[in-house]
Amino acid sequence: MQNAQILFPVNVPGAFDYAVPKDMELGVGDFVYAPIGKQMKLGVVTGLGPAEEGRKLKEIAERKLTRPLSPEMIKFIEWTAKYNVASPGQVFRMVLRSYKALDPSPVVSHYSPTGVTPSQLTSSRRAVLREGGPFPARASEIAARAGVSAGVVKGLVKVGAMQELALPVDAPFQEPNPDHPGMELTEGQEDAAKELVAQMQLQDFSVSLLDGVTGSGKTEVYFEAVAEALRQGGQVLILVPEIALTQAGMSRFEKRFGVKPAEWHSAVGDAPRRRVWREVAQGRAKLVVGARSALYLPFADLKLIVVDEEHDTSYKQEEGVIYNARDMAIVRAKLSRHAVILASATPSLESLHNARSGRFAHIVLPERPGAAILPEIGLVDLKDNPPEKGDFLSQPLIEAVKAGLEQGDQSMLYLNRRGYAPLIICQSCGEKLKSPDTDSWLVEHRATGRAMCHLTGFSMRMPTLCPNCKAEDSLTAVGPGVERVAEEAARHFPGAKIEIFSSDTAGNPNAIRDRMDRMAAGEIDILVGTQMVVKGHNFPHLTFVGVVDGDLGLAGGDPRAGERTYQTLVQVAGRAGRAEKPGRALIQTHQPEHEALLALAAGDRELFIGVELAMREMLGLPPFGKLAAVIISGPDLKKTESLSKKMVSVAPRAEGIEILGPSEPPIGRLRGLYRRRLFIQAEPGVNLPRYMAVWRARIRPPAKFKIQIDIDPQSF
Ligand code: ADP
Repeated sequence: MQNAQILFPVNVPGAFDYAVPKDMELGVGDFVYAPIGKQMKLGVVTGLGPAEEGRKLKEIAERKLTRPLSPEMIKFIEWTAKYNVASPGQVFRMVLRSYKALDPSPVVSHYSPTGVTPSQLTSSRRAVLREGGPFPARASEIAARAGVSAGVVKGLVKVGAMQELALPVDAPFQEPNPDHPGMELTEGQEDAAKELVAQMQLQDFSVSLLDGVTGSGKTEVYFEAVAEALRQGGQVLILVPEIALTQAGMSRFEKRFGVKPAEWHSAVGDAPRRRVWREVAQGRAKLVVGARSALYLPFADLKLIVVDEEHDTSYKQEEGVIYNARDMAIVRAKLSRHAVILASATPSLESLHNARSGRFAHIVLPERPGAAILPEIGLVDLKDNPPEKGDFLSQPLIEAVKAGLEQGDQSMLYLNRRGYAPLIICQSCGEKLKSPDTDSWLVEHRATGRAMCHLTGFSMRMPTLCPNCKAEDSLTAVGPGVERVAEEAARHFPGAKIEIFSSDTAGNPNAIRDRMDRMAAGEIDILVGTQMVVKGHNFPHLTFVGVVDGDLGLAGGDPRAGERTYQTLVQVAGRAGRAEKPGRALIQTHQPEHEALLALAAGDRELFIGVELAMREMLGLPPFGKLAAVIISGPDLKKTESLSKKMVSVAPRAEGIEILGPSEPPIGRLRGLYRRRLFIQAEPGVNLPRYMAVWRARIRPPAKFKIQIDIDPQSF
């Protein structure tokens, strides 16, 4: 007799032991139904062993699927849980997100030629055989390709020229072709591609940092490594920030590999999601492009993961299991013994540090291909160049846009603030409009006539009276959002075609594609945009980028603020001058002496990184020490505070650990829950996840109160 450990998708500390029925053959990674309480639940086998004498266990009821999860995937689930101080069941729940994926795919009629061709055929029947392929396919698809009606296809069955087959609804993904002709690489790109491939061939596990300036062709370069992994018959996962999953981005894969890759992100519907899950588990989807959660798809034979824009903060999942997909991608690769490529024009300090200390291979692309050069970046000191009263654009920005318009070039004005104004104040009593259950100001959205909370999505019609003193017409917009900048631009540049691009105006993926296509075609003169414009777009006629508020990310006490600001502004400026015409960027600032801005203006990354790394080393912050955060939240402020203090008082004593706080985080109340925060700083040798797990087990929050642990928090 055998026992099996079964992990269920529930938040309990681990797997449960069950007896394996005599005639059931089981392997690690199989899905089974087993009784838990009064229910029958789906679980995965994580271990098998001989039955213990005298121990009475419940029996597994049914084997559902054979090995949808590889042994590496099981280890990956356990590792993710351990590292991020979550339960393996919670991680398994992420893997199972498309539960119904487990049901067998429904079948529908497909048709394919039998090879028998009757001598007398009508021209439309002949067209079906000649132009209806690839076969087998559904009648409607064949008919559309041949330009006939579906009845013609079925008619061919009657005369024996075609056969009807019951095939799964899921068409398999077409095989990508690694040798489909791609772009001709420059010498520098060619060398970088060779180096990436060599890293894959030299060792089974490797991490390469592809560090190439904006527009240097990193995508084309890592495509060569992708091609190599495909030639070896393996699966490839390419992680991209959610926002970069535009059709333009996807069509680049299609151009290079001849077929559409499998897509995995929030906008993919249920049915295609289930199809991807099944095809990935069976090793038949070879090329997958997805947002961070694609990392938890059940790959059967993964050979390469690319993390594009590896510095991007959207790789961090902040809810449920809190994890960083970039770091977990490296773990996944290590467990499955394959390569990882991290690509960025502005690598995170952690990755740069790892590259410099030799843990990652460092592959550099210092220039753009062909005639394209990097944009020249200048600072506009707002003390010397104040905008007109009530305005937000300084004279140098206005002149640069004007010069562009005269040349027939495009400009972009960047401000990472949605809506019209970030603050609404009553001029009569000083009241600021606040979100009802959250510490955040309401933002005026003039286009829709509403006041909105960007943290919770709360929204109301813009009031006409002050809610506090009831004064009429006293509510005033303070500060700029993109709508207000567009309004000002329309005043300075009458006749110019101006469009706003933010998550409010973006619309569905088709609308985004349409807008980006029109921008690329030169049909928009001035694009006013939030961070939505930063990633993954190529606009050949864009020559000027104006940053309305270069200091926006620097406010607040977050030690990562400099790094984020530097990265974002390099990427924003990098949108300019990506083709023949040179580009230029101007950044408006009140802090022209800040090292992030100085380094940007000098085009000297080292200047910034040197200062930043020295500061981190002095403070013992990552990458020189380890960091975790604890967020304690609950519906009552006093009790949240006392729970936070209790948490500190039960902390295990350990060498090399320092606990800071509790303190109030930047958002002290969110959706009615009060929040307090602790930081835990650890010296490099400390096993911080283990320490946190021991600590967490010592305290049990009362109902409605929550203790969340965040390893490597993104903001300090
Ligand atoms: P990155 O990801 O480094 O910002 P991309 O891979 O998006 O750069 O490339 C930037 C632009 O340059 C794209 O439009 C791409 O098609 C073009 N490009 C890249 N390499 C070449 C090349 N060897 N020849 C011509 N165009 C290239």
